[in-house]
Amino acid sequence: MKIIPHVIGGAHTAGQSARRSDVFNPATGEVQAQVALGGQSDLEAAITAAQKAFPAWAETPPLTRARILFRARDLIEQRQDELAAMISAEHGKIHSDAKGEVTRGLEVVEFATAAPEILKGEFTEQVSRGVDAYTMRQPLGIAAGITPFNFPVMVPLWMAPMAIATGNCFILKPSERDPSASVMLADIFKEAGLPDGVFQVVHGDKDMVNAILEHPAIQAVSFVGSTPIAKHVYATGTAHGKRVQALGGAKNHAIVMPDCDLDKTVDALIGAAYGSAGERCMAISVAVAVGPVADPLVKRLAERARSLKIGAGTDNSNEMGPLVTGQHLARVRGLVDSGVEQGATLVVDGRDHVVSGHEKGFFIGGSLFDHVTPEMQIYREEIFGPVLCVMRAPDFNTALKLVNESPFGNGTAIFTRDGDTARAFTHGVQAGMVGVNVPIPVPMAFHSFGGWKDSLFGDHHMHGPEGVRFFTRMKAVTTRWPEGIRSGAEFVMPTHG
Ligand code: NAD
Repeated sequence: MKIIPHVIGGAHTAGQSARRSDVFNPATGEVQAQVALGGQSDLEAAITAAQKAFPAWAETPPLTRARILFRARDLIEQRQDELAAMISAEHGKIHSDAKGEVTRGLEVVEFATAAPEILKGEFTEQVSRGVDAYTMRQPLGIAAGITPFNFPVMVPLWMAPMAIATGNCFILKPSERDPSASVMLADIFKEAGLPDGVFQVVHGDKDMVNAILEHPAIQAVSFVGSTPIAKHVYATGTAHGKRVQALGGAKNHAIVMPDCDLDKTVDALIGAAYGSAGERCMAISVAVAVGPVADPLVKRLAERARSLKIGAGTDNSNEMGPLVTGQHLARVRGLVDSGVEQGATLVVDGRDHVVSGHEKGFFIGGSLFDHVTPEMQIYREEIFGPVLCVMRAPDFNTALKLVNESPFGNGTAIFTRDGDTARAFTHGVQAGMVGVNVPIPVPMAFHSFGGWKDSLFGDHHMHGPEGVRFFTRMKAVTTRWPEGIRSGAEFVMPTHG
């Protein structure tokens, strides 16, 4: 059985611990590898390597750091297909979708190549007579990233390039469900010229996460995952004196107004609800239909949900792959059962979908519920599967109130042709990322990504300007120089005595 190794101090290693976890091929249901689950001693080894690397890396001029990131950028682009195949094999998503994920991660590397620009401080001349002031941003030291299964390349790249460009050493603890791509990223950074110990990978489960959260040498933790774990990471990390940004789960609503372009809205909702089998933190999982648009919307969505092309991620003509594990498949099926039991109308039932030739794969079809109400479990919980819930609201204000009462506030969107309604929505909605006729409003790398409420714990969003702030600390310098040689200039040849 293939063992997926840690990358510590620039070398692949199976580590000290004998614990392993199965890594599946979700399209076949087979175990294809095992990942080494690290323990305290593996983390200590990574910390030691990072401590060794940090002083020289922090002193390396930002331009030199940027040149390494430029090379990493080119290598990631050259190996985009290979990375996408790796994602698809362990996560299950369609190859073309996996390539899109790599591109979005690459964009953060590109942003981070602007290190000399983004690390510029501010300068004020003459804050008082003869006194100047300036600010600078300096690295924190060792930062850790803990990432979820659903974007095994993009989410690590939300963090690592920012941490590295700003002069930190970065230890990544990827999801144990699809860990291979992180190892390849570490190899790419090494090949690009990054010194050993600056980017490392330690695998593991909650034991490794807790060891990271409690380790006194780690200054900052960047986390992305589900809300209960994000809360735990934030509380434990900050209690141990760390800076923490912990992005959690989501329940993203789209309001569909009667004046929308229905064809385009249906297209947008189908892609946003069922793409990547709904395993996206920015997936639209709730459509709030306002007034008379509900019946035609549900009819059109149902036609499309029934005809989704489902199959292995290796075939780019498929629209949706399997779920990540058998356990997750059972959970999603159970949630669809609960929706039926609690009185929602199951318009399209994907529970028993079988892909021929892949009978043991973790496949499920797309499901569509209508007449969903706020007390139902399918509304309250993040399903993280291909299940779209339609709710009905008589008017815009009722729809907006519903969105704002959700404990989550990651992404949201409105579909309308009316600028005034769109403006009222963008102004009043309580969510961190908002789309107008854009179903998945993921900010580009040069902006920052993050939600509100139970979708983010901490102060900083990911990447972009917020990422620079998260991975650096500010120093403000005030200077006054005593009277210098100006007034005491000598015009005669100086002599001693
Ligand atoms: P998860 O919370 O199960 O795991 C995330 C990380 O936490 C993994 O590295 C895992 O090993 C670790 N972990 C799991 N259980 C733990 C525990 N008890 N104690 C300590 N650490 C633990 O999430 P997942 O299933 O891998 O990913 C899906 C979730 O991530 C969804 O809720 C999704 O919305 C969320 N997500 C959010 C964003 C965002 O930007 N807000 C982006 C992607 C995914």
